[in-house]
Amino acid sequence: MEIDKKENLKISQEFLPFYDFLNYCRFCFLDMLEYADKKHLSMEAINYKSDADRMASENICKNQKQNLDQWLLDNGYKKVAFNFYFKHLFFSLLVDFCNYYNASLDIASNGNIYVAWSLLRKPLQETLAYIEWLYVDKEELISLMMENQDVSSYEIMNKKNRWKIKKHIQMIQPSISSEKMNIYDFRYSYENPLTLNGILQATNHLITTRPYLKTSPSGLNFVFENYDSIHRNTGFYYTSLSYVMKYAIELVMKIFASIAKLSDYTITVNSLNAMLKAYQALSIPYERAKNLIDLEQMPIYCPACGQANNTNEMWINFAHSYFECNKCHKKINTFQYLFDFEDIIFNR
Ligand SMILES: [Zn+2]
Repeated sequence: MEIDKKENLKISQEFLPFYDFLNYCRFCFLDMLEYADKKHLSMEAINYKSDADRMASENICKNQKQNLDQWLLDNGYKKVAFNFYFKHLFFSLLVDFCNYYNASLDIASNGNIYVAWSLLRKPLQETLAYIEWLYVDKEELISLMMENQDVSSYEIMNKKNRWKIKKHIQMIQPSISSEKMNIYDFRYSYENPLTLNGILQATNHLITTRPYLKTSPSGLNFVFENYDSIHRNTGFYYTSLSYVMKYAIELVMKIFASIAKLSDYTITVNSLNAMLKAYQALSIPYERAKNLIDLEQMPIYCPACGQANNTNEMWINFAHSYFECNKCHKKINTFQYLFDFEDIIFNR
């Protein structure tokens, strides 16, 4: 899998590191979805309590008008129904997120930055919020979805549920003063033009009247744009989206790893890779990244020959685009979710 040819892109050189990271996230999501498909990760085995139950459930599957979920809930198979629903919901949300996110990246790379922004509303405000909810309290969300007839009970943008989003984000990423951007404020605040809502108000409406986001007198939002303001909003797109995606890719990887039951080493290597790629986008120098992640404690074992690799050169190449074993010279493209290390057997 290769990164798009840069010469075909209408992106200023200064935004390319962000674009690379955002594309890395896209590739990872695609790899996870392909793996889920290949390994049938959405399936859930059912240990029937009796042959009668097995036949009843098979009949329901044949007769598509009837609801298998409801039958499972009514007949003592709640855990199976929940597990199945959880996996199905997670991968469906991830597909939904990708549909908008990928299109937004493509449109941004063609220079149509305001349409690219407008495509981020649903994935960042709604779809990601359900993924967060699944991570923090999947029992609550799935119970509401399966057993509550009132859709507003789990409508995340409903005023009575909005506080949950903030709580979930705080639980996933406790506020760190050194973080340059508050993930919640960026996605939901209406008090600053340099937020998702601030930009969306202006991309979706010619005139806006909210207190902090008022259209200037004699103006229309984003219609009389000059090169400088388009450039500024393009820069804001790449930087702010990279901050959110650094958070989102870690979250998605954690849920995926729990469903796919991957080895601890595969999980660690991918988490390191995502961090290195994000640090690169955010222009954090290698030496600082090395200390932040404590890379010296973490050799990369070659899946072909077992050699432990831990030189600066290997890590810089790893962060940039590939892993190369210093013994057998096996190369692995790191712009993807790495399953290559799954079969390594460690002698304990
Ligand atoms: Zn090797």
